[in-house]
Amino acid sequence: MIFDFRNLSRDEALSILNLPDENLSELLDAVYAVRKKYKGNIVNIQLLTNARSGNCSQNCAYCAQSHNSKAEIDRYNCIPYDKLLQDGYVVQKKNLARHCIGLSGIRFTDPEINEFANNIRELKKEMQTPICCSIGLLTPEQAQKLKEAGVDRINHNLNTSREFYPNICTTHTYEERILNIKMLQSIGFEICCGGIIGLGENKTDIVDMLFEIQAINPQAVPINFLIPVEGTALGNANVSHLTPEYCLKVLCLARILTPKSDIRCAAGREVYLKGKEKWMFYAVDSIFASGYLTADGQSIEETIKVITDAGFQYCIETT
Ligand code: SF4
Repeated sequence: MIFDFRNLSRDEALSILNLPDENLSELLDAVYAVRKKYKGNIVNIQLLTNARSGNCSQNCAYCAQSHNSKAEIDRYNCIPYDKLLQDGYVVQKKNLARHCIGLSGIRFTDPEINEFANNIRELKKEMQTPICCSIGLLTPEQAQKLKEAGVDRINHNLNTSREFYPNICTTHTYEERILNIKMLQSIGFEICCGGIIGLGENKTDIVDMLFEIQAINPQAVPINFLIPVEGTALGNANVSHLTPEYCLKVLCLARILTPKSDIRCAAGREVYLKGKEKWMFYAVDSIFASGYLTADGQSIEETIKVITDAGFQYCIETT
């Protein structure tokens, strides 16, 4: 089987997801050549700080932080600056690539943004680590304040296809997300934009989402695999199709459609790809350590070991 990834059509993209498992190693070899060309053998590690948790007004079905969720999670408003600084020092000391900071919620008041921007400004005086924030839908003025404070990149995921989106969220629209990303790009932010697999979507939704992401041309594409959380609307979701082979095909397609972006295997990595990390790194060049917003993950040391055991190098990313 010969793979030609240039100008992939939607049908060809779908055929990657439908590839028989026995042909997966050929696909992985072909995708590895793309990964090697743009990313070498490097894997970047990010640390994620959940700076504001829970009590979100939105109804995203997968999210433990939604007001609809009965999941047992910590709920708090913005963490104190000291905690942010403490995590920043961990990122710096361990030479991790990036400090990602997530805040629950869809819209923030100007005083909230001002306070957060001040914290980022202080953090940036202490260290130059690249900072990425996940911070809902911003106004252009709020985005500008964060840019001036030193935020390098903003995460705003599309999560699934435009067509499937109303099945997972009805309190804001897909288009609002797209417009927010375009506004952020016009201000000069780097963009991190990915999705979640296992929400009940079909394969064409994954293809559609990845083409939407390709059009955005983000610097990073985080792919999450749903871990159903008890108490959320998707707490009983059937994720039996999330086999390692299926997850690997999705990650390969993400690499093919956005070859120059960081392809990050985010939540679900430790569950669905355990023991398959070597193959995962054929497509992926970026992972989290120390857990996710409301879920635990691998420690930094274990994460580094997974990378080096797979024959890849972990590296310091600089702006
Ligand atoms: S994903 Fe974001 S917007 Fe949606 S419920 Fe969770 S915190 Fe709120």
